[in-house]
Amino acid sequence: MLAKFGPAGNPDAFYESGKKASVEMPEWLAGLKLSAYEYQCSRGANIKEDTARAIGNKAEEHGISLSIHAPYYISLGAEDETIVANTQNHFMKTMQAAHWMRADRIVFHIGGPGKQARTAAMERSKKAFAEVLELADRRGLTGVYLMPETMGKQNQLGNLEEVLELCKMSKWVIPAVDFGHLHAVTGGQYTTKEEFAQVFNRIGEVLGNDVARHLHIHFSRIEFTKAGEKRHWTFDDPYGPPHQPLIELCAEQHYAPRIICESAGTQAVDALAMQNLYYSLLK
Ligand SMILES: [Zn+2]
Repeated sequence: MLAKFGPAGNPDAFYESGKKASVEMPEWLAGLKLSAYEYQCSRGANIKEDTARAIGNKAEEHGISLSIHAPYYISLGAEDETIVANTQNHFMKTMQAAHWMRADRIVFHIGGPGKQARTAAMERSKKAFAEVLELADRRGLTGVYLMPETMGKQNQLGNLEEVLELCKMSKWVIPAVDFGHLHAVTGGQYTTKEEFAQVFNRIGEVLGNDVARHLHIHFSRIEFTKAGEKRHWTFDDPYGPPHQPLIELCAEQHYAPRIICESAGTQAVDALAMQNLYYSLLK
């Protein structure tokens, strides 16, 4: 099995080519020889059933692996009961959309700790997440991987160990590693092959090698401040992390991750740059 590459959302070039609807994305991506697409439900999973099914059919027809980014409003550690209820609802709606689309993976942000200590917020998050998993099971929505994402700001839950804590709760929970975020939140680390390898090794240790080898990865160049992530840029901009060491590692170790590029507007071209490097190194 080989690594797959694709964009998060619809890049500028897609619209510039005169296309408008996400249902046209799978064919457009196949034309570029890309093989993954992360559909964005960042502002709510309000997609209609027929649209979702149409995107799923097109993705299957063109050999595109589909994932979904869940709404940003998810906040598992919230103390406010309304927010917790809404969080549950966001999960159910996104999982329903994934079933219609036959997307196999959902990325989500754990949320912030609010005024709680991080450990207390994580305990609360795990309790709320256990309820989400149970509810999904009761509604017949299990069967799609839920992926807590490593986050880029100091005031967000989701360092690698926190992500792994949630992943231990079910075989349907695996990590989404955003290396741009890790770079930003650590003030500029994750620029060398060794640093990237540490992440794969740690995940292998905790969740097994199969999970590590087929990791879901977000990648983009990110500008940061002391507080962490500030802004996403493109591969032409002078920010880190560099993608070359990551791609070299994946090729050398025969890892087969799904790498979703989150560049600002150029996410398809930049995904392609990573894919071209990966294939050239495999030869
Ligand atoms: Zn995200």
